[in-house]
Amino acid sequence: MGRLADKVVLVTGGARGIGRAIAETAAREGATVVVFDLDEHAGAEVRDALAAVGAQGLVRQVDVTDSVAVAAATDEAVTVFGSVDVLVNNAGRNVYADPVVMTEAEWDQVFDVDLKAAFLCAKYALPSMIARGSGSIVNIASLHARLTCTGMYPYAAAKAGLIGLTRSMALDVARHGVRVNAVSPGYIRTALVDEYFAQHPDREVEPKALEAQPLGRFGTPEEVAEVVCFLASDAASYVTGADWAVDGGLGVRF
Ligand code: NDP
Repeated sequence: MGRLADKVVLVTGGARGIGRAIAETAAREGATVVVFDLDEHAGAEVRDALAAVGAQGLVRQVDVTDSVAVAAATDEAVTVFGSVDVLVNNAGRNVYADPVVMTEAEWDQVFDVDLKAAFLCAKYALPSMIARGSGSIVNIASLHARLTCTGMYPYAAAKAGLIGLTRSMALDVARHGVRVNAVSPGYIRTALVDEYFAQHPDREVEPKALEAQPLGRFGTPEEVAEVVCFLASDAASYVTGADWAVDGGLGVRF
């Protein structure tokens, strides 16, 4: 029996990167996995990966900033599987730009995906958790909520907001047996980080970032997924309102 046996785990942005690793780790831990993602092609790959470990699953093309789509797809998951026990708000976006150059639409896109979507997905998943008297929400924030650098101001602000949302919502739903936590990764090698290195005006940003790593390397999506699945599981039954760093020690470096 895995740590997530008998649980229905919904992962947003689960078609690639950290979300994909969370979906696959949860499946190996015995969960039924529901994935919402924009990317239909990658969605088919994750569907095959779930089937390969014998997990039940549902992959839907859902823009998590669209409340109508989120409500409909969450209802479908509850109808098909009986509940949503765990919600992982993982979908994220970053736009790197000078404040004078960044458009209002780019700012809104970062805030919609990195912050508003976590509220929307929780709003529609929570009734099923509350009805069962248990549940767990894990919000994927970032080290940028605390320590940041130039050009990251919408992302850093949205992720700091996500930690605030985590803390307050944890208090709101604790009486229903629902826990809400955040996980804050440092540098995890995914397409998002590759894009950040590619957009950055400093061509040395990647070797400098690597040199700053106390463990001498970037993290892997699987290393984040392990912590997320622990927080999602009943093993973390007294953990709520917390923000767990998965940053290889970068966040405590002077
Ligand atoms: P990726 O860009 O590799 O994957 C993000 C996934 O989310 C993609 O599949 C993307 O779809 C999907 N997505 C984006 N917008 C939406 C949307 N509106 N609706 C549904 N799905 C969407 O990112 P990572 O795996 O690196 O990051 C995952 C999370 O971890 C993010 O929240 C990120 O901010 C956070 N994080 C990552 C760090 C890192 O170092 N990688 C560090 C700290 C935090 P599509 O491919 O179609 O765009």
